[in-house]
Amino acid sequence: MSTKRVLYIEDNAMNMRLVRRLLTANGYTVIEATDGLKGIAVAARELPELILMDINLPGIDGMEATSRLKSSYDLSHIPIVALTAVAMKGDRERIMAAGCDDYLQKPIDNALLIETVRRFIGEGEPKAATAPKEATATPSPASVPEPPRFIFTRRPMTTSIDTLIEP
Ligand code: MN
Repeated sequence: MSTKRVLYIEDNAMNMRLVRRLLTANGYTVIEATDGLKGIAVAARELPELILMDINLPGIDGMEATSRLKSSYDLSHIPIVALTAVAMKGDRERIMAAGCDDYLQKPIDNALLIETVRRFIGEGEPKAATAPKEATATPSPASVPEPPRFIFTRRPMTTSIDTLIEP
């Protein structure tokens, strides 16, 4: 039996609870981390199939954590979806430029989150209690990545996780 594991890096307990409940109900296993450095360490240890990344985190923020994860030869393949309340002009581009593969706004839209998780890693484990499948949803414009408009400096690629979990 295989379960698809989603690492959620989030410092807000309520959001964590909501997302854990939603993903678990849809047959995914949720791994939790409450800040960016812990998140990187857990990602390196567990190699989850997908990472959901809060942006406003204690210590290094979600963009920095993403940038570090995407500089790792061992971790850069893991898709990262940012979940964030920030909605200022340009934030989306900065988040995508940091290396996030997609971006969802809080408050979290349950249907859109599940659709996005499925798009990256497929269906979760089937459960007897799962609701009937809904009609195909149209992807919202917010989930379609735009091409980056700026040139950003990427961190050099590394094989060392230790350098990624330095504050
Ligand atoms: Mn936060």
